[in-house]
Amino acid sequence: MSRVDRAQGASAFRPLSVDRMANWPALAPLIARAGRPLVVEALRAWADASRGKPDVADEGACARWCEARLSALVKPSQRRVFNLTGTVLHTNLGRAVLAEEAIQAAVEAMRSPTTLEYDLGGGARGDRDDHIAPWLCRLTGAEAATAVNNNAAAVLLVLNALAGSHDGRGREVIVSRGELIEIGGAFRIPDIMARAGCRLVEVGTTNRTHLKDYAAAIGPDTAAIMKVHPSNYAIHGFTNSVPAAELVPLAREKGLALVEDLGSGTLADLETWGLPHEPTAREAIEAGIDVVTFSGDKLLGGPQAGLIVGRKHLIERIARNPMKRALRLDKVRLAALEATLRLYADPARLAERLPTIRFLARPAADIRAQAERLLPDLRKVLGSVAEAGVEAVRGQIGSGALPVDLLESFALAIRGKRLDKLADAFRRLPIPVIGRIADDTLLLDLRTLDDEAAFTSQLGQLDVVAG
Ligand SMILES: *Cc1c(COP(=O)(O)O)cnc(C)c1O
Repeated sequence: MSRVDRAQGASAFRPLSVDRMANWPALAPLIARAGRPLVVEALRAWADASRGKPDVADEGACARWCEARLSALVKPSQRRVFNLTGTVLHTNLGRAVLAEEAIQAAVEAMRSPTTLEYDLGGGARGDRDDHIAPWLCRLTGAEAATAVNNNAAAVLLVLNALAGSHDGRGREVIVSRGELIEIGGAFRIPDIMARAGCRLVEVGTTNRTHLKDYAAAIGPDTAAIMKVHPSNYAIHGFTNSVPAAELVPLAREKGLALVEDLGSGTLADLETWGLPHEPTAREAIEAGIDVVTFSGDKLLGGPQAGLIVGRKHLIERIARNPMKRALRLDKVRLAALEATLRLYADPARLAERLPTIRFLARPAADIRAQAERLLPDLRKVLGSVAEAGVEAVRGQIGSGALPVDLLESFALAIRGKRLDKLADAFRRLPIPVIGRIADDTLLLDLRTLDDEAAFTSQLGQLDVVAG
């Protein structure tokens, strides 16, 4: 009979009070770390699990059991990982890694009140877009700009503001069938269109759409023509799509808004760093598009955001829409976004300061040298369990940018019997390492390995035996 039960004069099989158990000295350290409510929750589970068993009042066993149960809860659920998948902008791993300047700005904004909507000059109310709009205009050549939660929100807001209605019988928006895309995470143009309260008018065919198709679809109810960057697929062969520039005269003549969802979109010319061309927001504005939307955390390399640039009267209409209030950015992301945009003012130093561009611009020879450097340590921990070497591989930008252009890279390539177990062992390291398995090889693509010291210092903890 336990001490507690005797004190209560109860039988050993009467359930112990978890509140009393929480006072056991063996649980004090756990309460100090996790807080009393979580420990009480664990004790209830312990009491349930050991109902009627004689060791229910074994303080030591109970403390160890509760500790194991709470270990997952006291660690953060969202954890830092090494993204060695070869996909630089990996949506499941949080896309862009921010620049130090953006991190500092975000931390400062988190810690203090800020001038988010406050004009220091006049001591009056300001507009939160004022922190980023001048930069976006300077970098894209647009007349005006605004920003919302992400690009999906930007597309939704733009469509609703320019063609939507409350009763779902909004005006028509014309889109080429070759551009009616679905990207990961349930973003489908026809669904967004419906939610925005406007009516989709499809023109052309999957592989070919002509200017005359657009012209024939325009009617009294048409509000806009929309172009969509195909992002994560490409069609080859007998194809035709109408470049934005050719749609401009048609849209002007008919008084329609011409909108383009650039998807990734970029503010810099990627060819500067030897990468294939990706459409820039400036090119779209210069071509005459009225409203352009793109993501903040794809090629731009900033925080999650949806950027909207274009003609002043349209941006004003978009920013006045009540949905803008529901989709707005908070001060932390605005601070990070402003700091990121600022870096684009000095393109010569961009590759040095912005991780996304630095990763993409990394020469293959540099990655190979890093792989050769890490190989001996890796071989040492793998011992006879698996073989490791350095291999040329192809990675990708990710998040829909340039789906067919693969980045030449190098990986630590591991071959052994139970590769899935080994991949699991890498995921169980203190900073989980995420690679990819292809052709019976576990590949750790080093293009995005910034913190080499942290990677090496935990290698010794790899559980190759269980792996
Ligand atoms: C990525 C993408 C989106 C969605 O952008 P989020 O910022 O992820 O919301 C929309 N359209 C296209 C063409 C895209 O590539």
